[in-house]
Amino acid sequence: MPDTAKTLQLENVAYSWPGRASFDLQVADLTLASSETVLLLGESGSGKSTLLSLICGTIIAGSGRVSVAGTDIAALSAGQRDRFRAEQIGLIFQQFNLLPFASVQDNILLPLRFAPERRKRLSDPNAEAARLCHDLGLPDGVMSSKAGNLSVGQQQRVAAARALIGMPPLIIADEPTSSLDAATQATFLELLFAQSYAHGTTLLMVSHDARLSSQFDRVINMTDIAQTKRDAL
Ligand code: ADP
Ligand code: MG
Repeated sequence: MPDTAKTLQLENVAYSWPGRASFDLQVADLTLASSETVLLLGESGSGKSTLLSLICGTIIAGSGRVSVAGTDIAALSAGQRDRFRAEQIGLIFQQFNLLPFASVQDNILLPLRFAPERRKRLSDPNAEAARLCHDLGLPDGVMSSKAGNLSVGQQQRVAAARALIGMPPLIIADEPTSSLDAATQATFLELLFAQSYAHGTTLLMVSHDARLSSQFDRVINMTDIAQTKRDAL
């Protein structure tokens, strides 16, 4: 029986980047419960983004086990893993990864193409995309704009809408607020928390801004969970 109450579990995970003997990451135990909101803090180069890539299955641990919603990521084929990620994880990257020549609407709806379960949760995906844009404070009519024509802060909010659409059980966000001003950052976080509260979404967000700590259920520091080897430069 998959243990879905634990949305995310890492056990004795070790990873080193190919050809880079100077860095390796080890996480003995990290468990996130369903609907938990967790802030992951750590200095630059401490392996936060590497850890998120392991969780997303874009890289595979050399040893140990990474499970998302009870499924061992390493047991899936590459194709299964891509579909699994699309269904289970809403991703917000540091660099947004929007399609610049596609409309805002097409960018937001994109994950639904690869995630039929997320699509099925929505009676009207276009209306849901518009609602998310509105709630994120994007201007009316933004849906037909080319994503590449928006400001950096607006693009980051489109990336959030793309992650949230269809309520995936896990949202992973890698320093998503670094390009937002204080007011926009507050709106952005409110929407992430609202979705977590309404749909039991688990949120794992990386930041180096410890001032956000009080807003999360739990704060984890990389130094508490991870052993990293880093040679002096
Ligand atoms: P953080 O997100 O905490 O700043 P990262 O996980 O990006 O840390 O980086 C941790 C270490 O892994 C760094 O030494 C970095 O150079 C290395 N690293 C990150 N991504 C790659 C990659 N794609 N290929 C090789 N090394 C990488
Ligand atoms: Mg990083």
